[in-house]
Amino acid sequence: MLLLPKFDYEEPKSLPEALAMLSELKGNGKVVAGGTDLLVNMKKGTVRPACLVSLKKVDGLREISGEDGSLAIGSHVTVSEIAESDRVASAFPVLARSASGLGSPLIRNRATIGGNIVTARPAADLPPALLVLGASVELKGKGKDRTVPLDNFFTGPGTSVIETGEVLTRIVIPSAPPYTGGDYIKLGHRAALEIAIVAVASRLTLDKPDGVIVDVRVILSSVAPTAVHAVSAEKALTGQHPSEELFAKAAALAVGDSSPITDIRGGAEYRRDMVNTLVKRTLLKAFNDARAMKGGNA
Ligand SMILES: Cc1cc2nc3c(=O)[nH]c(=O)nc-3n(C[C@H](O)[C@H](O)[C@H](O)COP(=O)(O)OP(=O)(O)OC[C@H]3O[C@@H](n4cnc5c(N)ncnc54)[C@H](O)[C@@H]3O)c2cc1C
Repeated sequence: MLLLPKFDYEEPKSLPEALAMLSELKGNGKVVAGGTDLLVNMKKGTVRPACLVSLKKVDGLREISGEDGSLAIGSHVTVSEIAESDRVASAFPVLARSASGLGSPLIRNRATIGGNIVTARPAADLPPALLVLGASVELKGKGKDRTVPLDNFFTGPGTSVIETGEVLTRIVIPSAPPYTGGDYIKLGHRAALEIAIVAVASRLTLDKPDGVIVDVRVILSSVAPTAVHAVSAEKALTGQHPSEELFAKAAALAVGDSSPITDIRGGAEYRRDMVNTLVKRTLLKAFNDARAMKGGNA
């Protein structure tokens, strides 16, 4: 049985206190949120922080707020809270869908949105949905605050632009324009406790219910070192009248935007096929939702 190594544990009660501790610890301290990823890695011995700085008692990181259709989600909000939030479900159902498929009820009750982003796993469930929604993350360090579009956050498997001593405090999602719809589909071997073999999130906006696509985002997950835009598909869809033929053409192009590997969960060829299938399905659902809705809803 793998045992946790020895470590110190701190529970600061404010963000300045947490940032001061992290700054003093330099590289020897690590933020812990739900611990569902970090503690597993510490047991495996792949990370060995001398001290964990918990965000549990830090004020202001557990709220979901927003106005005029935008949403700000504190980094310590749990995946369960996102999956069950009426506010999230009505404004951004694609995010609620991605949250409700993460792990199991036990994991969702502990796992946080901040932890899911910072792990930067290529198969993490929330980043694809947040990327199609155009989300940004707020990072705070000692004497340094910055906002980074999620599009510029991930740099590789397990790596991102977050610096030692920085804390991800909030995720901000801008309001969706009218006639917007979205979808997220995760393919796994089982319905629960499954890391995605392939996952796709799509979102499109029409200029009017029977109009052309004025904005579109297609994100492919688990088929590249980070979640990636299907750039060729997005290009082919923009400015066009939606149709099943157009979605099939975009899906075929999206396959070329992926670079899957073969591993224990699936072969590269199978993953390419599934990119094709899931891009078509998510676009069709996004389109049907977009034309049925007056207000932005993705
Ligand atoms: C059985 C099991 C099943 C799982 N299934 C899934 C799944 O289906 N889909 C999926 O996406 N993931 C899954 N995971 C992985 C994990 O549960 C998620 O990634 C989770 O969201 C991590 O959040 P956490 O709060 O537990 O992060 P932690 O484990 O507390 O932290 C993870 C990393 O993020 C850093 N961190 C956390 N919060 C912050 C912050 N606010 N600022 C700066 N750094 C921070 C930590 O230092 C650490 O490096 C699973 C894990 C387990 C054990």
